[in-house]
Amino acid sequence: MGFRTSHHLAAPTGAALSQGLRPARLLRLGLFIYDHLGGRKLLPATKTLDMRTDPAGAPLQPLYTGAFEYSDCWVNDARMVVLAARDAADRGATIRTRTAVVAAHRDDGHWALTTRNVLTGATETVQARLLVNAAGPRVDTVLSQTLGQNSAGQCAWSSGSHIVVKKLYEHDRCYMFQNADGRIIFAIPYETDFTLIGTTDQDYFGDPKDVRISDSEIDYLTKAATEYFAKPVAPDDIVWSYSGVRPLYDDGASKAQEATRDYVLKTSGGSGEAPLINVIGGKLTTFRRPAETTLTKVEALIGAKGAAWTRHAKLPGGDFPATGFAEAVAALKQSHPFLDSAYATRLVRLYGTRAGILLGAARSCDELGVHFGADLYEAEVRYLVEYEWAVTSRDILWRRTKRGLLGDAIRIAELDQFLAALSAPTSREQKLA
Ligand SMILES: Cc1cc2nc3c(=O)[nH]c(=O)nc-3n(C[C@H](O)[C@H](O)[C@H](O)COP(=O)(O)OP(=O)(O)OC[C@H]3O[C@@H](n4cnc5c(N)ncnc54)[C@H](O)[C@@H]3O)c2cc1C
Repeated sequence: MGFRTSHHLAAPTGAALSQGLRPARLLRLGLFIYDHLGGRKLLPATKTLDMRTDPAGAPLQPLYTGAFEYSDCWVNDARMVVLAARDAADRGATIRTRTAVVAAHRDDGHWALTTRNVLTGATETVQARLLVNAAGPRVDTVLSQTLGQNSAGQCAWSSGSHIVVKKLYEHDRCYMFQNADGRIIFAIPYETDFTLIGTTDQDYFGDPKDVRISDSEIDYLTKAATEYFAKPVAPDDIVWSYSGVRPLYDDGASKAQEATRDYVLKTSGGSGEAPLINVIGGKLTTFRRPAETTLTKVEALIGAKGAAWTRHAKLPGGDFPATGFAEAVAALKQSHPFLDSAYATRLVRLYGTRAGILLGAARSCDELGVHFGADLYEAEVRYLVEYEWAVTSRDILWRRTKRGLLGDAIRIAELDQFLAALSAPTSREQKLA
């Protein structure tokens, strides 16, 4: 999807950091290294801002007089994951969503896997020459429960939560605030009308599926934001929150926050025994690095082709220059003049040049089919079902688009009905069955 630059205002300085110059000096040194070692080509250089005159100072308490600005790339995590899956499917991979590997054992030099579709309950057996266990936080669970192997507990868990509030400021830059406990809290423009505030980071021992934001996390995030913003952020301002569990390689750190965020590959099998590669830890944004390292291992273990090729590969819809977002929006508006700027921008942000497939030959919003409210039409829903494995309204509204943030503006019951009708077998299919 190409990328958009995002300007970060790192740790506004002033009264809050007035105990000494060390934090500011350290930051300046860090940013100097960022500028000079990072191989910066497209991103603007770092700079110092006077928060009394820069618009970035306006939403903050007047205590802050200076800030450092650096630029980085941001990515919509959910879009990146689904586009990586779409890319793999376009290149011949079979993607089975909502399908759990429920058992696996080595059988005569192969892996024999049993999978179960969690919606239909249908099971299937699959044979594989090699198995990659990339189950994220569940990597140990898969090892011990699904593969029946002794797992020494190689993956530690840290939970993290974000809150979303109505937008706190108009400009498009992010803030990185130094919190009193030494952690960084960020505030990022989110889905046009909102601000995302995150994140927390604490040891987690529950079931990953049960992870939810706690009252103490709400308190922590709202208080941290209130420290800096002129208008206090209160728990009642939260319109949505989400939480997750980070898989961290257990490197013996006493606290999850201190554990490495890097990934580790652990391999077993080979020489006659079907190989297993466990992927432990790792970041989302650098996903191609562990993926390529894993494939290099696959090549060494079973001779399948694993040469690195992703360095310049674009995700589906990202076939326009990294600095060409505005031009891509203009091109979409030219081919579909009925789109207003906000709608065209949203479509390009989510689907890139594939927005053209979604819109087809439509010449008006009416021709996009059933209108579910706001800017959500049948054409987008059908696209998400056909190309992005969406099944439920939750998939559409939260996992793929975040249109759920619009609340009552979207008629969810109508969307549910539409999706149910779309997945129901036609009378011809019923007869054939
Ligand atoms: C609050 C928070 C903030 C974060 N911020 C960032 C950030 O800013 N930048 C960044 O790079 N990373 C960030 N991360 C980390 C990032 O989300 C994870 O590192 C990343 O998701 C790990 O990817 P993964 O594919 O290894 O695991 P997951 O994304 O957890 O994927 C594992 C998959 O395996 C599936 N699975 C599990 N068991 C089975 C089974 N038996 N059969 C079939 N499938 C199975 C799961 O359903 C899941 O789809 C953050 C994480 C959290 C929680």
